[in-house]
Amino acid sequence: MEIYLAKSAGYCYGVQNAINMVEKSIRDSKINIYTLGHIIHNRQVIEKLESQGVYSIDKIEDINDGTIIIRSHGVQPNIYEKVSEKNLVLVDATCPYVKNIQKKVERYYQDNYQIIIIGDEEHPEVIGVNGWCNNSAIILNDIEQVKKIPNYKKICIVAQTTIVLEKFLEIVSRIVSKAKEIIIFNTICDATKNRQDEAANLAKKVDVMIVIGGYHSSNTQKLVSISKEYCKNVFHVETYRDLPIVELIKYNKIGITAGASTPNWIIKEVISKMENEFNKEEIMPMDFEKSIEESMVKIKPGDIVFGEVISISEEDIIVNIGYKSDGKIIKSEFTMDKDSDLKDLIQIGDKIELEVLSLNDGEGYVALSKKRVDDKKATKRLNEIFENQEIISGKIKKSIKGGFIVDIGIKDVFMPISHYHIRFIKDPESVVGQSVKGIIIEYNPERNKIIFSQKIVLEREISEKKEKIFNSIEVGDKISGKVKSIVKFGAFIDLGGIDGMIHVSDLSWQRVNHPEDVLSIGDTIEAMVMEVDKEKERIKLSLKHLVENPWEKVFKLYSIGDKVNVKIVKTTSFGAFAEIIKGVEGLIHKSQISFENIDNVEEHLSIGQEVETEIIDMDKEKKKIGLSMISFQDKPIKKIELNETVYKEDDDLTLGDVFGKLFK
Ligand code: SF4
Repeated sequence: MEIYLAKSAGYCYGVQNAINMVEKSIRDSKINIYTLGHIIHNRQVIEKLESQGVYSIDKIEDINDGTIIIRSHGVQPNIYEKVSEKNLVLVDATCPYVKNIQKKVERYYQDNYQIIIIGDEEHPEVIGVNGWCNNSAIILNDIEQVKKIPNYKKICIVAQTTIVLEKFLEIVSRIVSKAKEIIIFNTICDATKNRQDEAANLAKKVDVMIVIGGYHSSNTQKLVSISKEYCKNVFHVETYRDLPIVELIKYNKIGITAGASTPNWIIKEVISKMENEFNKEEIMPMDFEKSIEESMVKIKPGDIVFGEVISISEEDIIVNIGYKSDGKIIKSEFTMDKDSDLKDLIQIGDKIELEVLSLNDGEGYVALSKKRVDDKKATKRLNEIFENQEIISGKIKKSIKGGFIVDIGIKDVFMPISHYHIRFIKDPESVVGQSVKGIIIEYNPERNKIIFSQKIVLEREISEKKEKIFNSIEVGDKISGKVKSIVKFGAFIDLGGIDGMIHVSDLSWQRVNHPEDVLSIGDTIEAMVMEVDKEKERIKLSLKHLVENPWEKVFKLYSIGDKVNVKIVKTTSFGAFAEIIKGVEGLIHKSQISFENIDNVEEHLSIGQEVETEIIDMDKEKKKIGLSMISFQDKPIKKIELNETVYKEDDDLTLGDVFGKLFK
């Protein structure tokens, strides 16, 4: 034998919720407990509650103290006032779906819409809803009634939760011509329809159907008649005692469903009875608990839903989540920024991803959170970033003790001051607002600890650049860089990740007093690589080696005896230095300036003056070149004084000796 239980058999969500609240009150309350009307239409349940001290009253005036429980149908607002006036303890078990209708009616009534409720005017739910528009609603239960209503400027239509959809649509279609502006809310609860559809489907598959519920329960009777349409053998039972065991034993497949007021324990008792009566081995009931659970919820706490914003106030945002009740996000579940205005953060019509916190926030809304969704996404993303050591960008939001708060888009993280940069930072405030890029070096979601470092990324970048430079350059290469700093002994050149150094002696073939005479900070220059030491991370550069050594050149161009035009560049007490070619100076000793005795060189030569000279000495080793101007001058003839004896007959002198003396 196989037993199948309809998923939606028994209590709907609203009834189950009300029963749970009654049971909680029984556990928690030490005062009398009353329900305003029967909590459900089930004799066994009412008797059980009475045995636990829970009694039903017809009106608030009947009691003066105790706890009063509002049943799932809901009530008019004046009931709450009466409860308050009498100082009663209120337990509001109004079904969230019904609460949702009440809220809509209240809101649109305040906006001057004519409220129309499609439903039964005698039904307690409809009576309750009408109270939320000051009992001004037009209640229609028949298409014929539509003809009698006048035209209105604005109409808002809602439905009793348990009416048939086709009826609702038919009446609505007739109302649309009654106003220019009509807002229609299909507030029909799916619970009843689902239960009936499932009963029909189950009845088609089984040999016999058992429908559990009060004999006077209209929704149970409806299930019986639907089942009979598809199955020849249908039994309506109130409890396990009514089971026709002898009949049932004839069948192989048994289907079970139950009315909306049938408690789970009665359904369980029926199944237990069948298990005991029949061979257990042959029974394959569906997962009962699971079936009950599935029938009660369509969304549950923790589920992620999408909501469309339908209203925004200072404290909360109302969204349509396609559920029977609208969802509400209170400000603290939307943003961390207490001072922000929700209207600046979101607009009506926006769609947002949300997490369900509870199906009823106490006011009939589904309690939702955007922050939880954001947090979960952030946690997942942060985990990825941390695991993959991903480089992310951020902005320094503020400076705090020991570091900074950095906004990385998904969350604020902490960057210790020592992880800001490879350089020491004197004034932390000065970098607030700056963009940074870094990695997460420590992530502990439980302790909400996220440590960010820019320094590590900078160090890696520099290391990579160094590696690249060292692998790509060789001695003799020409390389360009930017003058980064200048010191007395040379200049440091930024090669794009590593600094090269040019010693002052390598700046020029000529003598350089200070590197600043040749270079300025920020200059982009080209230099020759002279030495590469990967180990010590040292690169030695030279500027002067980019041009030919002028001493080499001058020795190639000239020899002793050559005539050369030179320019005086410096005068001294012993002569003058003259530039032969750029970078090479020769000395004109004062004895080589003129045949005359010269005391002051400057009286004969001035700086910048160009003169013709003869190379009289060249020393490659010592880099010295001697020049002479007197080669181009006539040697003066020595005047012989008459009384001077230059030659005597008895002198043992030659003519050469005599003339030589004279021309000295
Ligand atoms: S509105 Fe739906 S869920 Fe709520 S009590 Fe009515 S039938 Fe049950």
